[in-house]
Amino acid sequence: MSGPRVVVIGAGFGGLGAARALRQQGIEDITILERAGAVGGVWRDNTYPGAACDVPSPLYSWSWSLNPGWTHRYSGQAEILAYLERAAGDAGLLDLVHTGQAVAEAAYDDATATWSVRTTDGTTHEADVVVSAVGQLSDPVVPGLPGRDTFAGPAFHSAQWRHDVPLEGARVAVVGTGASAIQFVPAIVDRVGSMTVFQRSAPYVVPKPDTEYRPFHHRTFDRWPAVMRGERGATFHLTELLNRALGGDSVLSTPLLATMRQAWRLHLRRQVADPALRRRLEPDYPIGCKRILFSNDWYPALARDHVEVVTEPVASVEPTGVVTASGARHDADVLIWGTGFAATDFLRTIRVTGREGADLHDVWRDGASAYLGIGVPGFPNLFCVYGPNTNLGGSSIIGMMEAQAGWIAQVVRRVADGGARTVEVRPEVARAYDREMQDRLGDSVWSACDNWYRDGGKITTNWPGLVGEYRDRLAHVDWSALVAS
Ligand SMILES: Cc1cc2nc3c(=O)[nH]c(=O)nc-3n(C[C@H](O)[C@H](O)[C@H](O)COP(=O)(O)OP(=O)(O)OC[C@H]3O[C@@H](n4cnc5c(N)ncnc54)[C@H](O)[C@@H]3O)c2cc1C
Repeated sequence: MSGPRVVVIGAGFGGLGAARALRQQGIEDITILERAGAVGGVWRDNTYPGAACDVPSPLYSWSWSLNPGWTHRYSGQAEILAYLERAAGDAGLLDLVHTGQAVAEAAYDDATATWSVRTTDGTTHEADVVVSAVGQLSDPVVPGLPGRDTFAGPAFHSAQWRHDVPLEGARVAVVGTGASAIQFVPAIVDRVGSMTVFQRSAPYVVPKPDTEYRPFHHRTFDRWPAVMRGERGATFHLTELLNRALGGDSVLSTPLLATMRQAWRLHLRRQVADPALRRRLEPDYPIGCKRILFSNDWYPALARDHVEVVTEPVASVEPTGVVTASGARHDADVLIWGTGFAATDFLRTIRVTGREGADLHDVWRDGASAYLGIGVPGFPNLFCVYGPNTNLGGSSIIGMMEAQAGWIAQVVRRVADGGARTVEVRPEVARAYDREMQDRLGDSVWSACDNWYRDGGKITTNWPGLVGEYRDRLAHVDWSALVAS
């Protein structure tokens, strides 16, 4: 086999999509290292009841493998995982994947211009190019509360759901009210004996425009793929409106977000009769600053007689339950953490050393940044998928990752052609890009409150513009921004 040796880390939508783009550019020597026992990323891990996408499936799918068979506009986890496996299999990508390979270290050798990628079992892979596709939401976080590990009953994170734990009749404590909790709480509420939901910050929850696709739709999509593409396109443009508003576009931001706020207010009023509970469910920050959530059954679940919403901060965990700041004890048999992911700790499980032994985590100590979310000066031929400032508040991440995959594949193609051995971003270009991101993010709605997009004062996860702008910027590599040597 000839051409550059590429190691891709992670086999979710990001890593598999990058491998396909590389293949499209004629790059053959690709090894995908995946720490888990199977492909799928978040869709392999998040098997909690009710898990589903919150961007419509016609858009939350690869452009190169549209699916006429979605059963719902917002598909469930099992269906998305099956789609990912099928599409990756059809594209011949599964043979590239080595499972059970957790990467612990990637080190660049200046002398040979190669990377050594070491896994926790001691295996080393030599590579000319490394593509990190480890995701932003792949490492669950459980807060380090006093007594956290003393809970006597089963305790688990939503991304590590314990399907062996019976919930029938159990007293269940749920910590967190984010995007995962609003899906699994309604899905289990009928089974539990009682439920206490600990809410630190109320989300804005608006109606979910879900619909079932019937055989008629499937036949239509099958026969006339243009109809399917039309639905995808319409969804894309709608989500771009939201992206524009979240990014702080002065014309759109105010009316669109005000309309969504009105929709939220009506939704809450219609679904929750008790004024005291309603007050507890009112967010205290501008809409959009934290992810706007879509659900038709979250508020009704919380309004059930056997459900209590506690807004006092959780102070500690005891063997029998959860204790809040005032010292109130809430007994529970099962404890479920709906506390999200270590989003801002990019590449947290990997020690990455670049030129002259520079440590990537040291470079990122004041908050991660990367040119186009992909490249960091001093780290030649290391490219990130879903890296810093590439997350979205309102649209499909897959579209962003496809743009990254296409850009990376162009660069690797040049390496394969002998036009360069190494490619890395110019430091001044990377600095200017970071300044641009932070200036623009300062105008965005995300700057108006504390949220998981931030690392200290800096928003490191989100892209401030439209997906269309991002795609345009990545469509052709601007070689003047890079050092190709
Ligand atoms: C429950 C949930 C629902 C979501 N819904 C949506 C949605 O509706 N729309 C949307 O746009 N986005 C959604 N997202 C965001 C989602 O993260 C992205 O859409 C997308 O799946 C990210 O793909 P990825 O491949 O970059 O990351 P992941 O899917 O996180 O995959 C990363 C892979 O890398 C592997 N890995 C990590 N570290 C290592 C290591 N050191 N060595 C080897 N392998 C490693 C992981 O095991 C994993 O398989 C959701 C996220 C979650 C958690």
